[in-house]
Amino acid sequence: MPSSPQPTHRVRRPGSHPAAKGTETRLGLVRRARRINRTLAEAFPDAHAELDFSTPLELLVATVLSAQTTDVRVNTVTPELFRRFPTAADYATASQAEVEEIIRPTGFFRSKAANLIGLGQVLVSDYGGEVPEALEDLVRLPGVGRKTAHVVRGNAFGLPGLTVDTHFQRLAHRLGLTAEKDPVKIEHAVGELLEKREWTMFSHRIIFHGRRVCHARKAACGACPIAFDCPSYGKVGPTDPAEAAALVTGEEREHILRMVGIETAKDGE
Ligand code: SF4
Repeated sequence: MPSSPQPTHRVRRPGSHPAAKGTETRLGLVRRARRINRTLAEAFPDAHAELDFSTPLELLVATVLSAQTTDVRVNTVTPELFRRFPTAADYATASQAEVEEIIRPTGFFRSKAANLIGLGQVLVSDYGGEVPEALEDLVRLPGVGRKTAHVVRGNAFGLPGLTVDTHFQRLAHRLGLTAEKDPVKIEHAVGELLEKREWTMFSHRIIFHGRRVCHARKAACGACPIAFDCPSYGKVGPTDPAEAAALVTGEEREHILRMVGIETAKDGE
């Protein structure tokens, strides 16, 4: 018979973390950020961009479509979109109505369709139909901001970048990595704490953690592998292991619960 969950990982009394008390040194912060990165690498060994793509153009298009919707939803429309519009020139000459019809489920489809046609035109006129690598070139494209540019640079070209989306912002604050509010300032502040080569994977890990464990409304603090390093432990979600375990989602769930020493029904079979 499965026994009741008993966490074995280290946690602190809520509110007792040096970062919560304001006594953490800069060196302590750097070490903690890097330890969080290592622990999340263990928790999410398969962290990756959750948008489906096979070329830089496909990733650029999928990322533009991902604004205000989920990656899962974007992945439902892109097979047809990529089949109908394989090159930048195809977007440049596309009919607005045809693009809108395909991408409608992603929301804001009128402005997104206009952006895709516009970016196809700029890619053809200024970049020979290829997606540029430079940040300053990418952010010139319609519908492409710094976040999208870093997604493309990091995942299509292997150039390190921090993707500061809504999950990243929430986690950076909860983890006490920075108090900055502006995404660009958050990007720079967190970037200074980590080795540059880790930036892209750290973004994926943090976003995975935000989607599966550290939810916006009720975080799974009692089942969180980085709880020891988090000054918000117990402030934004239950510390009770069973209650917290029920909040953890995703394919890595069993693995994460094992990491924190919570016995699952599967273990007890
Ligand atoms: S789940 Fe709780 S302990 Fe874990 S990172 Fe989020 S706030 Fe911190």
